Amino acid sequence: MTTTLAYAAERERMVRDQLEKKGIRNPRVLDAFRAVPRHQFVNPADEASAYEDRPLALREGQTISQPYMVGLMTEALDVSPGHRTLEVGTGSGYQAAILAELGARVHTVERLQELSSEARRRLEAAGYQDIRYRVGDGTLGWPEEAPFDRIMVTAGAPDVPIGLLSRLNEGGVLVVPIGDDRVQELVKFRRGEGRVSRDRLCRCSFVKLIGAEGWPEN
Ligand code: SAH
Repeated sequence: MTTTLAYAAERERMVRDQLEKKGIRNPRVLDAFRAVPRHQFVNPADEASAYEDRPLALREGQTISQPYMVGLMTEALDVSPGHRTLEVGTGSGYQAAILAELGARVHTVERLQELSSEARRRLEAAGYQDIRYRVGDGTLGWPEEAPFDRIMVTAGAPDVPIGLLSRLNEGGVLVVPIGDDRVQELVKFRRGEGRVSRDRLCRCSFVKLIGAEGWPEN
């Protein structure tokens, strides 16, 4: 069994080779990746691969994204401490932990009950106590908790999720992959002064966002 210390060394290498060298520069983001024990968020059988440069399988055909993609999305989200933040697609809980490390007030929605419960167990075991969880269709946002300063969608949407955009505060940012069921473009929206700006960041490939403003279930 690999020791905590050995994992810390692997994590340091991941930050240097997969994030810094590929252009992720925000020191607070890099520190968050140094702090979160990614090996605790993957399936036990994949623990030794947790710091490799690739996505890994979760239950029910879902995936925990490649570290670089989590880094890119996190940097693009531009989180400050105290930001009310919504994550759509809890998955393993890893992205939620990164957001919590940045001081965000994290609200995370997952459509699959089992994944949500497991993520909660992992996050609490890793010491993240202040995250709010919900099981349901995240494309509808979280009406009781809206509006948000930051929204991140970690599954691929077929189109701009207008409902989520409308839940953003002035100055708010939404990061979401948009495209077909195989390839998407990561898009960053910023809401300000009566208009919404849109930046295309890169090509990417996520599992489907399934819901009212996503893909149909089958
Ligand atoms: N952020 C995750 C990766 C998520 S993979 C992590 O860090 O591990 C995408 C997740 O989105 C899957 O768990 C999938 O079940 C979930 N999902 C898909 N459509 C959804 C929806 N409409 N609302 C909430 N979760 C959704």
